[in-house]
Amino acid sequence: MKLIVSMVITCLALIAHPVMAKIKIGMAIDDLRLERWQKDRDYFVAKAEALGAKVYVQSANGNETTQISQIENMIARGVDVLVIIPYNGEVLGNVVREAKRDGIKVLSYDRLIKNADIDLYVSFDNEKVGEIQATALTQLRDSGNFFLMGGSPVDNNAHLFRKGQMNVIQPLVDAGKVKIVGDQWVDSWLAENALKIMENALTANDNQIDVVVASNDSTAGGAIQALQAQGLAGKVLISGQDADLAAVRRVVAGTQTMTVYKPISKLAETSAELAVALAKGEKVNTNAKLDNGSKQVPSFLLEPIAVDKSNLDATVIADGYHSKQAVYQE
Ligand code: BGC
Repeated sequence: MKLIVSMVITCLALIAHPVMAKIKIGMAIDDLRLERWQKDRDYFVAKAEALGAKVYVQSANGNETTQISQIENMIARGVDVLVIIPYNGEVLGNVVREAKRDGIKVLSYDRLIKNADIDLYVSFDNEKVGEIQATALTQLRDSGNFFLMGGSPVDNNAHLFRKGQMNVIQPLVDAGKVKIVGDQWVDSWLAENALKIMENALTANDNQIDVVVASNDSTAGGAIQALQAQGLAGKVLISGQDADLAAVRRVVAGTQTMTVYKPISKLAETSAELAVALAKGEKVNTNAKLDNGSKQVPSFLLEPIAVDKSNLDATVIADGYHSKQAVYQE
């Protein structure tokens, strides 16, 4: 009898609340060719799937049109949430509008989508990243010829990094101590583009460059290749960001001064939790609001960490981001 009663109750419950369909998340990534985004994908998918969601991942490989059509496909597929790492944060207004029309929630991941009605932004404090880079460099050298190597001009983060860098460097320029001898932006953040820019900058300045303010590790890698060719690697200070494996090895070898470690697992796992919460219509926790040109976007910002030889073990390695063997090539 008890069994029958409980079966009837279960059936009634199922009729009242049809079995929850699996939450579907579309993850549109700018460019999986860069090492860091592979980590973001892996951590994000693992966490979202552990929370019972299904994730469809696509990489636009740095192509604006490809990214828009990938997002349109995800909308057509009926995802519940879009998690977007925009290639160009300025051009997604229309596709976000389409998504919102279909009741799809939109989470802007790491990079802010501008002028669009997004639901949430999850990232690091990106202006602080720039401040950390410039502080690490100027603590070692606060005068001389500085070359600014910005990131992709269509990535909002690249501008925030630059803003943070200049918060630290501009007073030194004003004091007549630092001279900015060049200021370039690297399309798609690609090392090969940074290499060419650095080669030209070295030629234009007769190799008289003391500090390269590179905004991330892929661009630092390209610049260091150019410095190496002139016998300058290790002599010219240079920053980076992402704690890419090749970059932390360069930090160990002394050819890259520092990198900025952003615990990607935290970003990806927090985003996965928030994406699932958005899909369920639950309230999400935020700690900031950022203006994206059309609204104050509820945001969750995490803290970046400066890394050089002295704290590599206590940060990147202690977190298991890279193994000690891999970093020191033991
Ligand atoms: C990210 C950096 C990354 C760069 C290139 C930026 O938006 O914040 O971590 O190095 O894109 O992919």
